[in-house]
Amino acid sequence: MQRIHFETEHNLFRDAFRAFLDKEVVPHQEAWEEAGVVDRSVWRKAGELGFLLPWADEEYGGAGLKDFRYEQIMCEELAHINEPGFMIPLHSALCGPYIAEYGNAEQKARFLPGIIRGETILAVAMTEPSAGSDLAGMRTTAVDKGDHYVLNGSKVFISNGLLADLVIVAAKTDPNNKHAMGLFLVERGMPGFERGRNLKKLGMKSQDTAELFFNDVKVPKENLLGDAKGGFYYLMNMLAQERLTNACGAVAGAEAALQATIDYVKERKAFDRPIAHFQNTRFKLAEMRTQVDVAQVFTDRCVMDHNQKKLTPEVAAEAKLFTTELLGKVVDEGVQLHGGWGYMWEYPICRMYANARIQRIFAGTSEIMKEIISRGMKL
Ligand SMILES: Cc1cc2nc3c(=O)[nH]c(=O)nc-3n(C[C@H](O)[C@H](O)[C@H](O)COP(=O)(O)OP(=O)(O)OC[C@H]3O[C@@H](n4cnc5c(N)ncnc54)[C@H](O)[C@@H]3O)c2cc1C
Repeated sequence: MQRIHFETEHNLFRDAFRAFLDKEVVPHQEAWEEAGVVDRSVWRKAGELGFLLPWADEEYGGAGLKDFRYEQIMCEELAHINEPGFMIPLHSALCGPYIAEYGNAEQKARFLPGIIRGETILAVAMTEPSAGSDLAGMRTTAVDKGDHYVLNGSKVFISNGLLADLVIVAAKTDPNNKHAMGLFLVERGMPGFERGRNLKKLGMKSQDTAELFFNDVKVPKENLLGDAKGGFYYLMNMLAQERLTNACGAVAGAEAALQATIDYVKERKAFDRPIAHFQNTRFKLAEMRTQVDVAQVFTDRCVMDHNQKKLTPEVAAEAKLFTTELLGKVVDEGVQLHGGWGYMWEYPICRMYANARIQRIFAGTSEIMKEIISRGMKL
């Protein structure tokens, strides 16, 4: 189905981003998968070409492109090449905006240029071993010591956990108020800030997902983002954009999985005919084609609503819920239609299947999305 919300400049941006991926990412994907982490140098290259935080103001080195369609294009192209480790969306559309939105002038001037150049890689650390969905249950604390805070606690499952130079860490700031938390900019090399192992995962093999530890880390007050008790609100406020980002990637991932399956069933033969000719295959593919098209139209509309600051958390949750569940269905049917070859890592559908599973879990599980949507229905 033809999409109607992209204009010439978006198509040119897509061509440039795709050319960058073909040259700087695709040839390294296997090596990154083996290493469990992408090469730092690719971040610099992306920065040089203007692909990091293109929305940021020009005074910091951005292009001032305040149009989420550019973020959408990057999510889509990364999904099309099935690259889960080089998380530009996490850096650009999730973490960077915290600094632009809640940072003061000094913090923006100090951090944004390096972030935009790809020299300072970002991560956000909310989840803890005993608190994921229930963020208010986190135990990491930040105690006010006058000119600095002292951070203690640990985080788990942190994307870019090993590569990150600057981590936005959520920590409790008032023992009497479970929703009082601050967001702290913890920098590589701060004494007491340590990283655990690169966690072994079902998929996303090229992504460095790690544990982080904070043992009496002295964080200067200049590294607190916004209000010391406002962090919970900041996180909730930013999660709508994060979920839209997930939706953009999920629907593109579903499209890629569908295409890979279509290509395969046309080639593969059983009982003297291509398996594409069996009615079961055609009906499955027809269902998926329809669902992916519907999901794409909805996601594109969310992007345009977001551009006009009209996307509500409930609708962002609908987008994440629908597209990530659909992705799960498409990769599963895709593996089925590939038969045993679909279970082999060398086939893209196998990696897509493994990479897709987390989409229904991170950035809020499907169950949490349903909570958010139903809360908005005032039942
Ligand atoms: C690969 C990967 C990357 C990640 N990256 C990051 C990152 O960069 N930064 C970060 O902070 N976190 C990150 N996470 C953490 C992720 O966001 C959490 O795993 C997720 O929010 C779920 O939290 P949990 O794992 O503690 O599960 P739990 O909260 O323990 O949930 C377990 C189950 O209980 C269900 N459940 C919980 N509460 C309810 C409820 N109220 N109603 C119904 N069901 C409920 C859940 O839906 C789920 O099915 C990442 C995780 C992974 C695996």
